[in-house]
This record gives sequence, structure tokens and C-alpha cells, in this order.
Amino acid sequence: MNDPVRKNRFSVGLTGGIGSGKSTVADLFATLGADVIDTDVIAHQLTASNGAAIAAIKSTFGAAFITESGAMNRARMREAVFADPATKKRLEAIIHPLIRAETEHAAAQANGPYIVFVVPLLVESGFWQQRVSRVLLIDCPEEIQIRRVMQRNTLTEQQVRAIMATQVPRADRLAAADDVIVNDSDTAALLPQVQRLHQQYVALAQAGEP
Ligand code: ADP
Repeated sequence: MNDPVRKNRFSVGLTGGIGSGKSTVADLFATLGADVIDTDVIAHQLTASNGAAIAAIKSTFGAAFITESGAMNRARMREAVFADPATKKRLEAIIHPLIRAETEHAAAQANGPYIVFVVPLLVESGFWQQRVSRVLLIDCPEEIQIRRVMQRNTLTEQQVRAIMATQVPRADRLAAADDVIVNDSDTAALLPQVQRLHQQYVALAQAGEP
């Protein structure tokens, strides 16, 4: 994290609202040869059984927040965080530095032409906006987002809207984006958009863009 050379690798911060298609698009970049580092996957590993965040979560919130298998009790933590913003802040103070350390560790191992960091809450985070060379938004109308998440997670429309209310509005994401992939039709429509950006990113990385 303190190595300026490593930080200067050309990197893309891929973001978008829940259900916009971040994972789907990230998989396409990976097949083209980009190194994809998903901060959500890292956050999950940190709070899984024997994850690096478990000891700090236990000492801060108590053993009641740890399951018998030694993972964070997600349901319980979700409730506590929802009920109290201070709890959310305390949890983030544990998790966020660990996510950054893990992502930098993964970035240091990367040997593709450029790195794609998948960061769902990138626009909400000053750190990530500074960290990446370019912000790539996966965008789609809210109605499509809702339909996809209802299907994927078997949630009601009301539940999906409640999650979306915790994320910045679409207009704020569009304002923060350098590049936009529109994901409002079938997945076949994604590949040409990903290929075009991949070529641009390879060229920018070769030109030595930080
Ligand atoms: P995110 O990572 O942004 O939450 P996903 O990539 O997981 O979004 O996509 C949400 C759901 O919608 C997944 O079940 C995915 O397979 C589906 N999906 C994404 N894009 C499309 C598309 N263009 N057409 C059909 N289904 C899609």
C-alpha cells in the first residue's frame, strides 16, 4: 500500500448499483486478460470462518456476533448495523483497512495489462475514487435493476428498493463515471462494449497512464 510504483499501475474502479451487472461485466474483463479484484469477495473472506476480521469483530461486538463455526453472524450484524449507524461505522473501521490491505496484496501479485477493482460503493468512498485511474460505471434503469435482484435473491420489490435507498442515486454515479457500460438489454450486448474499453485500457496502460 505504501509502494508508489505498485500504486501507479493503471487501474479501473468498476462500480454500479446492486443488480446493475458488475459481476457479469467483471467476468468479461477477466476473460480478456484483465486482473479482476473484487472487494465484495474479499470482504466475505475476511468475515468468513477464521477470516482476518473475526478476532477484531469478536473483541469489539462480543462473541454473540460470531457463529459456532467462527464466521461473522451476518444476519445479526445486518440487524445491528441497520438499527444503529454508529455500529455500522465501528464495523467499517475494522473491515475497510483490511479490505484495502488485501486488495493491495492482490494487486501486487497481478501481472495482466491493467487491474479492475470491483467496488460496489466506490462513489460513496473518497478513498477508492482517489485510488483508481478511471471509474467505470455499469448502468441500467432502476426498474431493470429491481427486476434482476428480485429474481437473483428472491426478494420483494420493497426489499430491493430498501437496499437501493442505502446506495447513492443513479445520477450521482453517472456524474462520477469516466466510462459507462449500458447494461439494459441481453448479455450479448455487453461484449462489444467491454472489448472497446479493454482496448482503450490496454492502450492507456501502455502509454504509462498512472
Ligand atoms: P451486480 O454484481 O451488479 O449485483 P450481477 O452481475 O450479479 O450484478 O447481475 C445481477 C443479476 O442479473 C444476475 O443474476 C445476472 O446473471 C443477471 N444479469 C446481469 N446482466 C444481465 C443481462 N444483460 N441480461 C440478463 N440478465 C442479466
